Amino acid sequence: MQVPTPVLFRAGSPHEVVAVDVDEPRAGEVRVRMAASGVCHSCLYAMDGQHAGIPMPIVLGDEGAGVVESVGPGVTTVVPGDHVVVSWAPGCGRCRTCRQGLPALCGDQPPLGRMGDGETRYHLDGADVYHYGPATNAPLAVLHERAVVPVSPKIPLDLAAMIGCAVATGVGAVRSTARVRLGESMVVVGCGGIGANVLHAGALAGAYPIVAVDVVPGKFDTLRAIGATHCVDATAPDALDQVLAATGGGADFAFVTTSAAPAFGLALRSLARRGTCVLIAGYPDDTTVAFDPGHLLNGERRIIASKYGSSNPPVDFPDLVDLYLAGRLPLADMVSGRWGVHQVDEAYDALRRGEATRGLIVFDS
Ligand SMILES: [Zn+2]
Ligand SMILES: [Zn+2]
Repeated sequence: MQVPTPVLFRAGSPHEVVAVDVDEPRAGEVRVRMAASGVCHSCLYAMDGQHAGIPMPIVLGDEGAGVVESVGPGVTTVVPGDHVVVSWAPGCGRCRTCRQGLPALCGDQPPLGRMGDGETRYHLDGADVYHYGPATNAPLAVLHERAVVPVSPKIPLDLAAMIGCAVATGVGAVRSTARVRLGESMVVVGCGGIGANVLHAGALAGAYPIVAVDVVPGKFDTLRAIGATHCVDATAPDALDQVLAATGGGADFAFVTTSAAPAFGLALRSLARRGTCVLIAGYPDDTTVAFDPGHLLNGERRIIASKYGSSNPPVDFPDLVDLYLAGRLPLADMVSGRWGVHQVDEAYDALRRGEATRGLIVFDS
């Protein structure tokens, strides 16, 4: 079937919407009519040429939701018509970390740009069009069944899209990785889609204070509504002093959601003794960071990482949908813009400028 699909042909150039041939789902695969795709920072690395080895042309997008259109042989977990949230971590399903319910840590991921069998499901004039992970910017997406999680049809699909990356990662970092407890203090450095979810999960956990640090003060009212108790302009010369004042000398947790150069250092300096820096951000290839080991040692500070919020999608996504349906997850407040399939570059430009909490690409159904 041919479907107009936004395709990136080379780094640094705009998307083109072209009629892509979409294969039928093969064994263990499903084809999903996407409703919306979230605009995530990891795709910017591909667009800006900071992710080496990405094959082109490619369909981007790492979070989305839609309706199962058809299923391949042997699929048992979903049927056509099911509403699903896409996971970017299907995992192999067999290795140790997959069996522990941590598929984002799977050591047997599909080859970059391809499905597990080494081939693509998208073609243009007979040539391969590659998949950036789940490639949720495809209006008709072919995915492994482990990459889709059936959810209640009561949640609007555009909001459900964000659960697949920003919400799972942000909420999971607080809930599953850091396990923030009532009354503990936290700082969130970088408040885009993931940071907004970290803030809100902190509020749900009863953290206090919850300090949002961002370079765009225009977002602060939104961040306060989501859960921040204090907001600090990261560009202010005394940003660190403001954070230390707000936290009474340092925070129990500092979450780093952005690879922007000053963020990691600011987060480390924001920690109280025995505080933990939680690294969430994806970084461009071959990045190194510097820190003062004495500051770490003398306060028994720690640095840990949270990949995909330590999520187990088949368990966590339905939990997050339940939270939304109970009115505890203000997903609508996190949407900073909606764009059509022909406006993909505008959506990513808003993200690049740091204005966005979460942008959505919405497909006509
Ligand atoms: Zn993402
Ligand atoms: Zn695995």
